[in-house]
Amino acid sequence: MAEELNPFKIAQTQLDNAAAIMNLDRQAHAILREPKRILVMNIPVKLTSGKTQTFTGFRVQYNDARGPAKGGIRFHPQESIDTVKALAAWMTWKCSLADIPFGGGKGGIICDTKKMNEKDIELISRAYVRHLGKDMGVDVDVPAPDVYTNPQIMAWMLDEYSNIIRHNEFGAITGKPVEVWGSAGRMDSTARGGMFVMREAAKLLKLNPKKATIAIQGFGNAGRFAYTLSKEIMGSKVVAISDSTGGIYDPDGLDLKKLDEAKEKTGSVDGYKSKNAEKVTNEKLLELKVDILIPAAIENQIRKDNVDKVKCKMLLELANGPVTPEASDTLFHNGVLDLPDFLVNSGGVIGSYFEWTQNITGYYWDTKRFNEELDRKVTKSFNDTITTQKLYAAMGKKISTRMAAYIIAVDRVAKAMKARGWY
Ligand code: NAD
Repeated sequence: MAEELNPFKIAQTQLDNAAAIMNLDRQAHAILREPKRILVMNIPVKLTSGKTQTFTGFRVQYNDARGPAKGGIRFHPQESIDTVKALAAWMTWKCSLADIPFGGGKGGIICDTKKMNEKDIELISRAYVRHLGKDMGVDVDVPAPDVYTNPQIMAWMLDEYSNIIRHNEFGAITGKPVEVWGSAGRMDSTARGGMFVMREAAKLLKLNPKKATIAIQGFGNAGRFAYTLSKEIMGSKVVAISDSTGGIYDPDGLDLKKLDEAKEKTGSVDGYKSKNAEKVTNEKLLELKVDILIPAAIENQIRKDNVDKVKCKMLLELANGPVTPEASDTLFHNGVLDLPDFLVNSGGVIGSYFEWTQNITGYYWDTKRFNEELDRKVTKSFNDTITTQKLYAAMGKKISTRMAAYIIAVDRVAKAMKARGWY
């Protein structure tokens, strides 16, 4: 039978598996299998060419039992409602596992920003917010950047939203530039949180991070900062990295300046030149013999058909949904420490929570405080996950770190729904 690759079906299967292990109440399970609210918007935008084009935009507010919906907005030509629904579900579990006062949400627009000028991107961003209108807000739904969106886009969106409500509400969007009260530290917090997970997991595996070799798929916000921070925090060696065009492998380690130059000159990191560097496809990068593999690009990269070729000891899921459920089971069976996305990349939303908190209170932290609090939160989530895994093992149930993290997250949301009288 062909492997299920529909991201939302995958998210539902993961929930079903956790529900079975933890004996989740059937009514709570039924509520949690579907999003609370789905918005599909056809958005006409008069572009700088003078022509009007209609873009399809989505916003999914999956669950708000523990707080306002929270999640990024993606601009992607292949965006689909099922991807957004899945990502919104994962945001719910991510916020819950991190124990921050948010529910889960996600949004997207089907568009190809690579083929657009900056002004058109601004026009689309503002139009998206006008269509969302009062379905967002500091206590309702708080968007943030994601694939192919950035702080500048968040600033335009915040400006548009402020025009709608006729006052500034800086906490309505996170991932903003610091000039409009984004937070110091937020920019690299996704990758930094991932590095804290990596540090703790390395202790578990008795892996010396200074000697560890790393391959990273993706050279965007998550992937590029994973490169710089793995060196800065752990002194590890990144031997391979890629972008959507292709990748580069050098057993001696890669140099950031040269990577940036290659990207700028040739449009891809695969234009990198050094004595021992060789080009690798995105497929081959995943199969390299490295200690730590970090998928930091898109979903469904490690599947039934290639999972047995994965040779790393630790798989750090910095992207959302890079490993299919079947592949995740195989990794567990093969003894690879597969650390789930909603634990590994929770630093982004925890950073957003810090930004939102600062916007609400009007008191701003420095980067040092931000990074220390991030470390504390992520490390606690990691430890909670491992403790739950051990607890189940003591009961005779061998479960993966993903299932352990799911059990914690689902239990908290189910308890909040119960307390509110939803079931
Ligand atoms: P980004 O747009 O900054 O970068 C995406 C990178 O992926 C680019 O280097 C791009 O070239 C590469 N890419 C695109 N298609 C690819 C393909 N088919 N094969 C290989 N590489 C491909 O996005 P980002 O913010 O770095 O997000 C990457 C992943 O991390 C996503 O799954 C996102 O949901 C997740 N994530 C990001 C954040 C954040 O704060 N940025 C937070 C949580 C999760």
